Amino acid sequence: MPQVDRIAANRAAIAARRARAEVKRKLREGELSPLRALDASADPDSPAASLRVTEFLQTFPSFGEVKTARTLEQLEISPRKRLGGLGSRQRARLQAFVRDRIGADGVAPRLTVLAGPTAVGKGTVAAYVRDHYPEIKHSVSATTRAPRPGEQHGRHYYFVDDESFDRMLAAGELLEWATVHNSYRYGTPRGPVLEAAGRGETILLEIDLQGARQVRASMPEARLVFLAPPSWDELVKRLVGRGTEDEAERARRLETAKVELAAADEFDEVIVNDEVPRAAARLVELIRQADAP
Ligand code: 5GP
Repeated sequence: MPQVDRIAANRAAIAARRARAEVKRKLREGELSPLRALDASADPDSPAASLRVTEFLQTFPSFGEVKTARTLEQLEISPRKRLGGLGSRQRARLQAFVRDRIGADGVAPRLTVLAGPTAVGKGTVAAYVRDHYPEIKHSVSATTRAPRPGEQHGRHYYFVDDESFDRMLAAGELLEWATVHNSYRYGTPRGPVLEAAGRGETILLEIDLQGARQVRASMPEARLVFLAPPSWDELVKRLVGRGTEDEAERARRLETAKVELAAADEFDEVIVNDEVPRAAARLVELIRQADAP
């Protein structure tokens, strides 16, 4: 390369580095919204396009190396990628992730997550809330398991096949998801949660522990409520008494429950499910607190 060209190239590289540093500063100081930066990066000539995804995420509060690496793995994006070089699905997943954290219009979504060990009665408490407190919005999960008698598509779950679930995952449509009891997949569709947030409403998610942890990671302001059994013996009785699972499945669920019980400490609130109406009333009280301005 002739000397003059080399000097020009060096100058251009320095200017690009400065422009990138300026984008990072603006992101860090809140002058530029991360969603805007992502949009801008679709133009290959923009300074945002040359920002690495790692640098981009590290402008988020509390995003150190470990959390950034974990997030990129979850989003299936190589840490070396630049924003301008993202594939369309990667871009959609990163956008969805950013939107979860800051909300569509900068309003953080308000979520209450109800989780707890298997057979503790999460479903029963959630159903009680649905019947007695119709103003509370519930998230309807997608699942690959078949409907049980009486369950309606779109009300209790969206019953989907494996292919549809894969498609939802790839398109970044799920806020969180998990394989529960080593068998079927369950996930929370992101759209309704963000729409509720846009209306200033809190939405209730009744999900398993793995899902609750994902929500905590992506939406630190979500309120996590742990539903606990009055005692271990009571939990075993409920698990066996339900009679909807065979022997092997019951053993598997008990094993899961043991691990799950130990997780109560990770939650913001614990409600003991001694009586369903009382537990439901307490849950509604917590949701209303979240709704209060
Ligand atoms: P069931 O098949 O008995 O309706 O639900 C089994 C488990 O899946 C329950 O512990 C329930 O909380 C959990 N679950 C239901 N929907 C979701 C979801 O969208 N995400 C996650 N992570 N777990 C879910």
